[in-house]
Amino acid sequence: MNRLNSYLTAATIAVACFASAAGAQTTGDLFSTPKVRRALDYLKATEPDTIKDQIKACEIPAPTFQEQKRAEYFKQRFTELGLKNVRIDGIGNVIGERPGAGAGPTLVLAAHLDTVFPEGTDVKVKRNGSILAGPGIGDDCRGLAVILAVARALNEVKIETQGTILFVANVGEEGLGDLRGARHLFNDELKGRITHFISVDGTGLGVTNAGVGVVRYRVTFRGPGGHSFGAFGLPSPIHAMGRAIEKISRFHVPAQPRTTFNVGRVEGGTSVNSIAHTAWLEMDMRSESVTELAKLEAEFKRAVQEALDEENARGAGSKKLTVEMKMVSQRPAGVTPADSPIVKAALAADAALGITTRLSAGSTDSNIPISLGVPAITISGGGAGRNAHSLDESFDTTDSHVGTQRALLIVLGIVGAR
Ligand SMILES: [Zn+2]
Repeated sequence: MNRLNSYLTAATIAVACFASAAGAQTTGDLFSTPKVRRALDYLKATEPDTIKDQIKACEIPAPTFQEQKRAEYFKQRFTELGLKNVRIDGIGNVIGERPGAGAGPTLVLAAHLDTVFPEGTDVKVKRNGSILAGPGIGDDCRGLAVILAVARALNEVKIETQGTILFVANVGEEGLGDLRGARHLFNDELKGRITHFISVDGTGLGVTNAGVGVVRYRVTFRGPGGHSFGAFGLPSPIHAMGRAIEKISRFHVPAQPRTTFNVGRVEGGTSVNSIAHTAWLEMDMRSESVTELAKLEAEFKRAVQEALDEENARGAGSKKLTVEMKMVSQRPAGVTPADSPIVKAALAADAALGITTRLSAGSTDSNIPISLGVPAITISGGGAGRNAHSLDESFDTTDSHVGTQRALLIVLGIVGAR
């Protein structure tokens, strides 16, 4: 996941009188029932098991597009937890259902299987006191462990819910996975069924209710190529790419709504004494605003075209460069309003646990439901994470049970406990 900024705090939002989405209870009633209190105690007592699950999941490699092994493991775990209709869907998401009493909401509680780390990365988790170190240990092995813990606690305390909970370990959240797992749930596998969506992603105690829009391109310049001395004067794909990057680096974007851009990868050429045949760059653009993102995208395309034209104008002879601009990823922007029941459920759970809520914007699986108008938030899984998306990622387990408890309370705030 990728949280970008906070712009609202709980202090600005009144949550005194929240009724759960199931309409059955007020928060106060719900959270003070003996069963729910028992479930919270159970989660605190068994947090070491949750952490074991987190480590176990993390030591099964799951690069984006290669999540199968970890998916098989979750299928087994969902089955052991007594979830119904456990399956791996057509794109690789693992789904298990916990039916409600009926006539309630249908909530997806998801965490993503995939990591940004390529095949062959050492994913062994090292433990030093309260610190766990390993690639993916927070993002999103923490979320995966938390959803298992929620299912375990509901079983242990025999909580019957009004609404149905669909537990999902989904594929394709990171990078060029492009939210394909979440997309598939909403467009295909669970189309029309989901009324609420919660993704547990990463660490800390944040709530993401706004989806930052993302658009990414791979731009490939192509030309005849030739000897650096013998063919001197030919237009160069690498030089054109350089011109494009120089223009991009001078873009101005607003701080609010937050809008960003980055050329994250480049490649090209074959040797120092050759004019390249090809060169490509990958560009990532993001904004909290649909309008600003569209403006940035248009400016980017203009810059690439100008770079091509300038390099072709410089080149001698009739041989010209071409450019291909291929969109490789797109995540829609949008917001689940702060006064919607799903956000209020998070605020109420935080109030019950003494947590100050920080609502933020990010690019997560929730972007998909948010863009479709389905109430969705992404919550973090507790503990404290460092260096997500890097090889020295770590997770501090101090008080991490609060994240697990909070996930349970938010879920119950939506589906209602009977
Ligand atoms: Zn993540």
